[in-house]
Amino acid sequence: MAINWTEAQINEIVGAVLKEIGNEKTAACGTWNSTSYCGRKLIGIYADMNDAIAAANEGYKAVRAMSVAEREKLITAIRTLTREEASVMAALGVAETKMGRVDHKTAKHILVADKTPGTEDIKAEAITGDNGLTLTEMAPFGVVGSITPSTNPSETVICNSIGMIAAGNGVVFNPHPNAISTSNYAVDLVNRASASVGGPEVLVASVVKPTMETAQVMYKSPLIRLLVCTGGPGVVKAVLSSGKKAIGAGAGNPPVIVDDTADIAKAAKDIIDGCTFDNNLPCIAEKEVFVFNNVADQLIDGMMHHGCYKLTLQQADALADIVLDKVKDDKGNVIKRVVNRDCVGRDAKVLLAKMGITVGDDIRCIIAEVPFEHLFVQEELMMPILGIVRVANIDEAIDKACKAEHGNRHTAHMHSKNIDNLSRFAKAVETTIFVKNAPSYAGIGFGGEGHTTFTIAGPTGEGITSARSFTRRRRCVMADSFRII
Ligand code: NAD
Repeated sequence: MAINWTEAQINEIVGAVLKEIGNEKTAACGTWNSTSYCGRKLIGIYADMNDAIAAANEGYKAVRAMSVAEREKLITAIRTLTREEASVMAALGVAETKMGRVDHKTAKHILVADKTPGTEDIKAEAITGDNGLTLTEMAPFGVVGSITPSTNPSETVICNSIGMIAAGNGVVFNPHPNAISTSNYAVDLVNRASASVGGPEVLVASVVKPTMETAQVMYKSPLIRLLVCTGGPGVVKAVLSSGKKAIGAGAGNPPVIVDDTADIAKAAKDIIDGCTFDNNLPCIAEKEVFVFNNVADQLIDGMMHHGCYKLTLQQADALADIVLDKVKDDKGNVIKRVVNRDCVGRDAKVLLAKMGITVGDDIRCIIAEVPFEHLFVQEELMMPILGIVRVANIDEAIDKACKAEHGNRHTAHMHSKNIDNLSRFAKAVETTIFVKNAPSYAGIGFGGEGHTTFTIAGPTGEGITSARSFTRRRRCVMADSFRII
């Protein structure tokens, strides 16, 4: 499973995708909705959530009856089809959600195909002693109810399917309403892969029109033994209140610290590469920067060489009013700001156009020097916008970065060669992912070591989820026997 992609390989993938875009294998090839794609009926999609759960339960029974080798065969087929249709799902995702970039979404699907662990992740433990042998095995839960986001829709469906099936579970999805067609395409892909190697026709299931009500049916169904939720704070709270075992992968607001020992030119490139990946949709992507004052000008100059447009503070305030809606109380007071969905995941060029600034396709990120309190620092925008705050020293950097992370304990980044500074920030911020001297996506195995996931479970502690996260431990004790020494 250890695949170390070089920059050349990543460029090769992106190049291949760009070649593909524009031909008939994109979403533009015909009509699509939550039940069909270009005239082909999607498999495993039901009008009623109860029917979807029943179908997933049949899928679970089929998986339970399989050997591990047979399960692995299914997973290999899912990987192969995901690679083949990565650009289709990427184009469909952008067409449906209007968010993100086709080339980057394609790379994300290939990452899922290559680096999501399969059955090898499931390991038994044995303890032997004077009293015999005790075996602990990772058993499936049963049918998993998976709630998926709009930001990485098909990536999450496929990544979760691989992990959950590898663990021996069945899966039913309640996808994000704004990404139903893309998510259901991925459900259908998993089912086509299954059928192609003699597995069940319906291995995983979803619904035609997912809503809060269909999610409630999922929460209450006695057939659902585990809920896995990938999304913002609202849905994580909802599943954790369901009374069922739940895995919650929630919101982040990843800060980046750059100190004066860092390779500043590399830091500038890495930060912009990570921040602009899929237009900042990944929850791990760089959202705000805290840079030592004595290297701040150099960092900003470096960023300007990588496709940035720098706003004045006044312009940053104006853009904040466009990209964040105001929620008011009865008396008209602004009580909170929420992201304008028409701006999430949009190209920098599109966001700048909303304030009357015209730029070329070479501009991929909007940067602005702002005070710590600024909305560009405090809010999780999920747009290629980066607020930059100058700090005097490491104490101020760590204090402000931890506050901007808002205790999500999700992801943080740092560019430095000072081991003490790196260690201090890593300890203080307590995030699930901490990336040193690389773009954020290194944290999910893209140019960094380790497996990938699109469900990073900070609140409930599973971390970088994989097949083993979706299992329950079971113990079998053989007293006084089976020890061979
Ligand atoms: P979202 O929170 O709008 O939606 C996520 C899912 O939850 C959707 O399927 C939605 O329909 C559903 N949902 C929302 N509120 C619900 C409720 N009260 N009851 C039942 N279902 C509900 O998320 P989004 O905009 O698609 O994704 C962006 C958010 O998700 C960001 O905050 C991002 O950080 C987070 N995210 C986290 C991870 C992770 O691995 N930790 C991965 C992707 C996205």
